Amino acid sequence: MGFGAWDLGFQVLGPSKNMIEENGHPAKSVETVNLKVPTLRMIAWEVTRSCNLNCIHCRAAAERGPYPGELGTEEALRLIEEIVSFSQPVVILTGGEPLLRPDVYDLARYGTQKGLRMVMAPNGTLLDAEKAARLKASGIQRVSISLDGAAAESHDRFRQVEGAFAGALRGIQFLKEAGLEFQINTTVTQKNFQALPGILALAVKLGAVAHHIFLLVPTGRGKEMKEEAIEGKEYEKILHWFYDQRGKVPLQLKATCAPHYYRILRQRAREEGKQVTPQTHGLDAMTRGCLGGIGFLFISHVGDVQPCGYLEAFSGNVKRQRLKDIWESSPVFLQLRDFSAYRGRCGRCEYLRVCGGCRARAFEQSGDLMAEEPLCIYQPGGNPAAAS
Ligand code: SF4
Ligand code: SF4
Repeated sequence: MGFGAWDLGFQVLGPSKNMIEENGHPAKSVETVNLKVPTLRMIAWEVTRSCNLNCIHCRAAAERGPYPGELGTEEALRLIEEIVSFSQPVVILTGGEPLLRPDVYDLARYGTQKGLRMVMAPNGTLLDAEKAARLKASGIQRVSISLDGAAAESHDRFRQVEGAFAGALRGIQFLKEAGLEFQINTTVTQKNFQALPGILALAVKLGAVAHHIFLLVPTGRGKEMKEEAIEGKEYEKILHWFYDQRGKVPLQLKATCAPHYYRILRQRAREEGKQVTPQTHGLDAMTRGCLGGIGFLFISHVGDVQPCGYLEAFSGNVKRQRLKDIWESSPVFLQLRDFSAYRGRCGRCEYLRVCGGCRARAFEQSGDLMAEEPLCIYQPGGNPAAAS
């Protein structure tokens, strides 16, 4: 799906003396004051669930479709009006495969006219010169393309479609010719984590503006790959490696849905005697690990709202409710914003506000939305042995 983070340039969390002290050291106690209604900064909108591929990790287990009950054009345009009535988020048009929706260009254009930053997450295989030009003309500002291997064999196995790698590269070429910015998204699993340096090098070579790595969340078809999920210790090493790449490559790096990267970033900065500021750590200093329900929401093909696409916690439906009301008062969102409601190690953790753990993985593992993130090995209290 590739809803990965985009350039947000925002501060999710207001300053708090109990959060991260000015010298970058974590505070001793976790503040348990609820967030007020935060600003909605990003929406992933599944404009259709239909897809031409059959990726193993797909959250939506999407197939060709058609899927009944998808929002019609009028409903979709009204939704854009609803969005701008109270917010100015980045809107990621995703799927399924968003290019299978014929009016997707109209939606992109309308959002653009309304002042929204419209971006798209197609799989790349359906792009051609004409579609890329239409995306550009409709105001799409960035396109994400997923590469899960540095070569055809590994990527195609992951996507379960022979030719998907070649198709993605061809799609990228069309984007470049149309003058569209693109980023590479990579879902990291046991099978491809060793290829990460190669994929990053490829992203640089292709001229991507960013490389976002995404840690597998075992939901949807991804459940079948549970055994391919990275274990906590390996995960930690990968995130340290990712931190080490900062400044070494000429593109933006972002660990998406790997919330404890933001804990690691602060631990590493502390070791280096640095403060975490926009000057030293760019956008990473201004966001947090899990944004679901805090700066971000997901709208499904039938209008269901969730904190994110991987967390199937029904929070409302835009056909029946105003999005603003859902954002401001959905019980699920209110719970996620209540730092006293987190349990287990996350609940005791001094990094809770900058990390939060993956709520989808917690939910998948335990059935409890607010349980501890199962893939974090950190022991709250700053036990460096456990974190190494
Ligand atoms: S729960 Fe949070 S970290 Fe996990 S997939 Fe959703 S947005 Fe990402
Ligand atoms: S314990 Fe939870 S909040 Fe703390 S770093 Fe790990 S995942 Fe994040």
